[in-house]
Amino acid sequence: MNELKQIAIIGGGITGLAAAYYAKQAGAHVTLYEANDRLGGKIKTIHRDGFVLECGPDGYMARKPTLTDLIQELGLDGQLVRSKTGTSYIYVRQKLRQMPDGSVMGIPTKFWPMVKTDLFTWRGKFRAGLDLVLPRVYHGTDISLDTFFRTRLGPEVVESMIEPLLSGIYNGTLQDMSIESTFPQFITIERKKRSLILGMKALTPPVQAGATPREAGKFLSLRNGLGTLTEALRPAIDQLYLNTRVAAIRPHEVELSDGTVETFDGIILATSPEALGPMLGLAEAAQLSDLKRTSSLTVLAAFKETDVAALDGTGYVIAKREGNALTACSWMHKKWPHMAPAGMALLRVYIGSEHVPPLLKEDDETIAAFALDELRTIQHVGKPLFTKVERHLDTMPQYEVGHKAYVRSFNRALAALDGVEACGAILDGVGLPDCVDSAKQAVERLNVTPEVLV
Ligand SMILES: Cc1cc2nc3c(=O)[nH]c(=O)nc-3n(C[C@H](O)[C@H](O)[C@H](O)COP(=O)(O)OP(=O)(O)OC[C@H]3O[C@@H](n4cnc5c(N)ncnc54)[C@H](O)[C@@H]3O)c2cc1C
Repeated sequence: MNELKQIAIIGGGITGLAAAYYAKQAGAHVTLYEANDRLGGKIKTIHRDGFVLECGPDGYMARKPTLTDLIQELGLDGQLVRSKTGTSYIYVRQKLRQMPDGSVMGIPTKFWPMVKTDLFTWRGKFRAGLDLVLPRVYHGTDISLDTFFRTRLGPEVVESMIEPLLSGIYNGTLQDMSIESTFPQFITIERKKRSLILGMKALTPPVQAGATPREAGKFLSLRNGLGTLTEALRPAIDQLYLNTRVAAIRPHEVELSDGTVETFDGIILATSPEALGPMLGLAEAAQLSDLKRTSSLTVLAAFKETDVAALDGTGYVIAKREGNALTACSWMHKKWPHMAPAGMALLRVYIGSEHVPPLLKEDDETIAAFALDELRTIQHVGKPLFTKVERHLDTMPQYEVGHKAYVRSFNRALAALDGVEACGAILDGVGLPDCVDSAKQAVERLNVTPEVLV
């Protein structure tokens, strides 16, 4: 006879749902507690008038395989769509300017486009070129992305290209972001080639004659939205408790906010960062919960296509020093044609984290009007058909300098709690594939395979 292991999962975002799936596959009985009234966490898809509205993530990095493997296992691979790409722009010195050809994650890799671009002054271009001869900057101790890039490439390339491109991913600032925890690949490149320009160039595959490398983007999504993933993972849960906040975790025990205590063979924590400290009562968990987090505000706006300035490409990022409250604008209908009906346009704008706190007390209409006013200083848009404001309050973890050390001491402290594992965006990566990876590893560590009883 097989005795099923009883596993509790706390948090029903992509991490918790993926953990539920892998635990179920391994033969466990899965109970999931979610504080909210819906599953999905930051993933939220709404369908309206033929538009697919992604209120949270809209796609994921195709080169990280775990999520695509999961999508295939769920039989959803027929619904995979790849992002389109085109000219990328940066709003600098009050104008949308094309990103120099050959720039990879903001690092220039081609000589002539860099020479010809109007993004930087000659002084800025010359300073960036010093990267070819400068010694290594990273020496085994974590530093901020700002320190790393400024030292290698100089202030102009950082402020006009790298900062607007990379800081948006974490909704933070380069000064706060740890190179070890956010983009460790730059450490590897510097170690191997010393120069970032030469290192990124070596990584970029040569373009073959006649090829159109810009057509296929680097991101994948699902035709009816990422909400499809949430729905497909739902059957892995045997017992689902929505609107149920977990107050405390002890080895093999889950205490709910109403005081009820349930026992389990194993517990997987997959909550957003602020919940860890209060739930575990460990100083190391509180330290992680107390790390900087930011709130994000995004506004989706649907238009007739004729009411939006016609530009080739998929959108733009905005340099901070322009003083605009927006950090980026994605032309979703161009990046993801499945998201808007023919003849329609869908724009998504991101409000910079420092402008978010005063706006949070405003209603959605006011926030949307504010965002559109800011947008109109950059590009023409007419009257929207509708807008959708999304607030992600205080839940975007910032991987600050030293983050890896905090995670290591948290993991050491957690190891003392028998049968309790943690995973998700707070620890080792905020991208959806990273979350799925960490959920899979947490289930493996827990060893949930049923014991054979005779
Ligand atoms: C606007 C935005 C855009 C993004 N875009 C992308 C993108 O395009 N691609 C990409 O890869 N990533 C993107 N990300 C990042 C990615 O969406 C997140 O890192 C990821 O979804 C986090 O998943 P999670 O399950 O770890 O956490 P969450 O989705 O935050 O889920 C945690 C869940 O735990 C629940 N919970 C918290 N406390 C308790 C408790 N005490 N008891 C019970 N339940 C609790 C919460 O209610 C929540 O549902 C984006 C993030 C944001 C905010």
